[in-house]
Amino acid sequence: MPKDCTRKSEREIIEHIKNLFGFPADKQVIKGIGDDCAVLRKDNKNCFLVTADTLVEGVHFDLAWHAPFLLGRKTGAINLSDIAAMGGQPRFALLSMAFPDSAPAWLDEFLAGFAEILQQYDTHLVGGDTVKSSHDLSITVTIIGEAAEDRICYRTGAVKDDLVFVSGFLGDAAAGLALCRSGLSRENSGQWQQLLNAHLDPEPQVILGKVLAESGLVHAMMDISDGLATDLAHICAESGTGAEIFKADFPVSAQLNSAAQKLKTALSGWILKGGEDYQLLFSVSPDDERRLRNLVLKKTGREIFCIGKIITGQGVYLSDGFNREEVSYQGYDHFCNIKS
Ligand code: ADP
Ligand code: MG
Repeated sequence: MPKDCTRKSEREIIEHIKNLFGFPADKQVIKGIGDDCAVLRKDNKNCFLVTADTLVEGVHFDLAWHAPFLLGRKTGAINLSDIAAMGGQPRFALLSMAFPDSAPAWLDEFLAGFAEILQQYDTHLVGGDTVKSSHDLSITVTIIGEAAEDRICYRTGAVKDDLVFVSGFLGDAAAGLALCRSGLSRENSGQWQQLLNAHLDPEPQVILGKVLAESGLVHAMMDISDGLATDLAHICAESGTGAEIFKADFPVSAQLNSAAQKLKTALSGWILKGGEDYQLLFSVSPDDERRLRNLVLKKTGREIFCIGKIITGQGVYLSDGFNREEVSYQGYDHFCNIKS
C-alpha cells in the first residue's frame, strides 16, 4: 500500500485503491469496488455476489466476553449480511485465519459456531487459509452468493422523495458492546439479553433481503455495519442525493432505552455511530410503501420502519422536528475514530 495511505480515513483509502485498480474492468465485472459485494456475471440471467470481511482480535472482538462459538457465528453472519444487502442467496464460503498459537483452545468452538451459521443459510465452506501470526487473531471470510441480475439491489438508485426504511432496531449492538465493556453484562445478563445478542450473535437479514430484492420495489439497499450516519451517507453519495432522517422515527428497543439510562449514554450516538446492527437500510417510492409493507408482512411476518426521506443535494441530515444537523459519515471508520 502506498505510504501516504496511513493518514487517510478508511473511506479515503478505499477510494484511493479504487482509483488505482478500478479501470479498466473486465467485461464480467458488473460492479467492482464500492458496494456491499462485487457483482460478477455468471450467465445471461444470473450473477455471482462476492464479499470479504476481516475480524481482528482487540479491534472487532474481545475473547474476554465473546464466547468462541458465538464468535464463529458472528464471523459468518457479518459476511452473509453483505450478500443479504444486495438481495442474494449465499452459496459458498472461504475461511482464512491467522493466529499465534498452534492449538488455540477456542478453535473447535469457533468452528462449530461458524459451521452452524453457514448451515443455517445453506452455505458451504470450500476453502480458506491457515497461517501463524505474530500477534493477534485475525479472521477473514469470503462469501460467494448468487442473484438474478435484474433483481440485485445496489447502493445507487435512491431518488428524491423516496422513503428511507430500516429493517429493525438500531443501536442495540453498540449498546451490547458498551455493556460488555462496562462489565454490566456479567451482573444481570438476562436483563440485557437482546442487546448482548445483537453484539455477540447478530442475525444476517438474508431472507428479508431476498424478499425486498425480489419485490422489484426497492431502489437502493445496503446493510448497516458502520452506523446509520455513515451507511446512509454511502447510499446518498452513490445515488447523488441527500437524506433527512427523523429522530422520533428511529425504531428503539425498550432494552436500549434502559441501557442508555443505566450507562448515562445518549441513544443517538449508539444509533448513528455505533454500527454492527446488520439491519438492512433501503429506499422505496412513497407510491410503493404500502405494497412493500404488506409484502414483507405476508412473506416474513415482520414490520419495516420508515425513518426519513431522500432529498435533493448531498449529505445526511438528522432532524428532531425543530433543528437539522448534518451527520454524514459520523459512524465507524477504522482510521478516523474510536468506537464508543
Ligand atoms: P462493508 O462495510 O459493506 O463490508 P466496506 O466499507 O468494507 O463494505 O467496503 C466498501 C467497498 O470497498 C467494498 O466494495 C469492498 O469490497 C471494497 N474494499 C474495501 N477494502 C478494500 C481493499 N483493500 N481492496 C479492494 N477493495 C476494498
Ligand atoms: Mg455492507
